[in-house]
Amino acid sequence: MIIKMKAGAGREEIDYVIRRARSLGLRVHESVDGDTVLLSLLGATDSIATGTFSGIRGVESVLTTKSSFRLASLDYRKERTVVRVGDVEIGGDQVVVIAGPCAVESRDQVLKTAWGVQQAGARMLRGGAFKPRTSPYAFQGLGEGGLKLLAEARDETGLPVVTEVMAPEQVELVTSYADMLQVGARNMQNFQLLAAVGAAPKPVLLKRGMMSTLEELLLAAEYVMAQGNLNVVLCERGIRTFEPYTRNTLDINAIPALKELSHLPVLGDPSHATGRRSLVAPVAGGCLGAGADGLIIEVHPEPEFASSDGPQSLTLEGFEAMMVGLRRIAEAVGRTI
Ligand code: PEP
Ligand code: MN
Repeated sequence: MIIKMKAGAGREEIDYVIRRARSLGLRVHESVDGDTVLLSLLGATDSIATGTFSGIRGVESVLTTKSSFRLASLDYRKERTVVRVGDVEIGGDQVVVIAGPCAVESRDQVLKTAWGVQQAGARMLRGGAFKPRTSPYAFQGLGEGGLKLLAEARDETGLPVVTEVMAPEQVELVTSYADMLQVGARNMQNFQLLAAVGAAPKPVLLKRGMMSTLEELLLAAEYVMAQGNLNVVLCERGIRTFEPYTRNTLDINAIPALKELSHLPVLGDPSHATGRRSLVAPVAGGCLGAGADGLIIEVHPEPEFASSDGPQSLTLEGFEAMMVGLRRIAEAVGRTI
């Protein structure tokens, strides 16, 4: 059950509702959405009538939801969420393309990529400074040095930066450099990390785990939102199937399904979904056709020398060519890039 307080409801009115809920054995989580306070009541709410709260002074509405996720659900919020990252709006009419290398490797590499993707129409820069690698012997990222290079590229090109944070202890550091925090597929159910980014003052890009259901993804978003951070963007990046030709299988269903279940914006990641450069552009087009609010694409000036994910990284020329085709697809579905 979620209680939406009237805009400008006073502290006394809010506290009264909290005391009432607690007296019924419920736990209460308070969050702020613009000028409205939301109280999520946790516990055995099924047996409690909405009338218990709807008449109380300061209460605007009481929402019950059958979905296990609440704040992320369309029941809770009917209008679509637009997440602002700097001057970029994710979830509006314009499709947002985020592009950049898998990992930050050097100043030259990041700046060259940032300028190249910006000129081709990307609105945000991506790049990992802390890399979750399958092998402990593989390149793990430049750490804070990488964050500094991303910030430099942002300051030069004006592109807001999204980068991965892997542990709760890293959240403060990454927040101090990045414009958006990425939680990767491998950490989608790292609940302490989700709570930590939920308490951070930056929007969150949450990637679907490679073996996670849509409900699990939305519950992961709920962990972030329950801490008061409602600026979450979901990302379909492919799931594991029996097909070995591609690195993962893009679950195209996930894009419209998530938009049917949730008000949060949804991105597609054709790079990690396919693992193959030749498939990135067509699958990116498919994501837009299915209603994605944006894309996240790996680009490297010299993919053959990339320290991670070279085979799926587009060259700058390849990215530029893809963007030309995507503009036409965006137009066909009533959007712009
Ligand atoms: C990435 O974006 O570079 C990445 C590691 O993605 P994922 O978590 O989806 O594998
Ligand atoms: Mn990658």
